[in-house]
Amino acid sequence: MPPHRVGGLARARQLVDSARCVTVLTGAGISTDSGIPDFRGPQGVWTKDPAAERLSTLRAYLDDPEVRRHAWRVRLASPAWTARPNAGHRALVDLERSGKLDVLVTQNIDGLHQLAGNEPGRVIEIHGTLRDVVCLSCGDRGPTEPTLARVRAGEEDPACLRCGGILKSATISFGQSLVEADLARAEAAARRCDLLVAAGTSLAVYPAAGLVPLAVAHGAALIVANAEPTPFDRMADAVVREPLSEALPSILGTPPAASASLAVDPVRTSAGGPGPPHPHEQPAATTARPGPTRAPDTGPDLRCHGAPAPARQGTIPTTTRGATPWPRPS
Ligand SMILES: [Zn+2]
Repeated sequence: MPPHRVGGLARARQLVDSARCVTVLTGAGISTDSGIPDFRGPQGVWTKDPAAERLSTLRAYLDDPEVRRHAWRVRLASPAWTARPNAGHRALVDLERSGKLDVLVTQNIDGLHQLAGNEPGRVIEIHGTLRDVVCLSCGDRGPTEPTLARVRAGEEDPACLRCGGILKSATISFGQSLVEADLARAEAAARRCDLLVAAGTSLAVYPAAGLVPLAVAHGAALIVANAEPTPFDRMADAVVREPLSEALPSILGTPPAASASLAVDPVRTSAGGPGPPHPHEQPAATTARPGPTRAPDTGPDLRCHGAPAPARQGTIPTTTRGATPWPRPS
């Protein structure tokens, strides 16, 4: 066993302590402790119900009203609506408060990073979000809840209220491209970070997985924290196998000596609570996300300090999105 895999947690903590600019990539593994199942694992949604995968194929969604009706029933029952961030999510909020987090790229569509308290402008949802719906015809976009209310009230396949087009959750379906601006921001973050933390992702789906070799090629250290081996473990400076809700607080959390002022629960309520507005409360086309609101850094001199967290632009109508999170590798 290579020496770096011995004491992975301690080595990972050292790497975080000495890092100045951290980019994080998260996947389904960080949300399983919040009760959101993986899609492809042994207990995965698609593993147990192969027909579910068809729901996230754009062509089928467009062509088959029954697929859309099924998809809306699945969305209505999604565990994401009641899921709460776990200690792994909160550790990433601590990392942000430490001033070291530059960008948080997530493959998850559940919105839990923002719910935990990460600055929305720092989160790139590379596979979209379940918390918005978008019209596949006119591109109109808005929060999911009002459309779900229509489904609850009996509309099995609710149409766009503006143009009558087909509505779909704002996730990336098979057959769709990622939002180019999101990918470009994620790649820029991978290039400028001095540490990349890949947490809860099998690193098997591209282009997200490609951020790892990109960061390493630009000189970043690499921590891979995942229950199962990944194709990039051998490239990593530390590999962590422990459950993320235990491992991430240990690796990323505020050291005990500095935690006294952070004793408040960082979880924000989803409605009416303190903190910046949830990113999906208004159509993306008119959303101007607040800039970083970090307190002045008292810690290290950040290589990427103040890196802009631009508001994501409105979704282009052609980049429609779907019920489930995985775009086909391309
Ligand atoms: Zn429309």
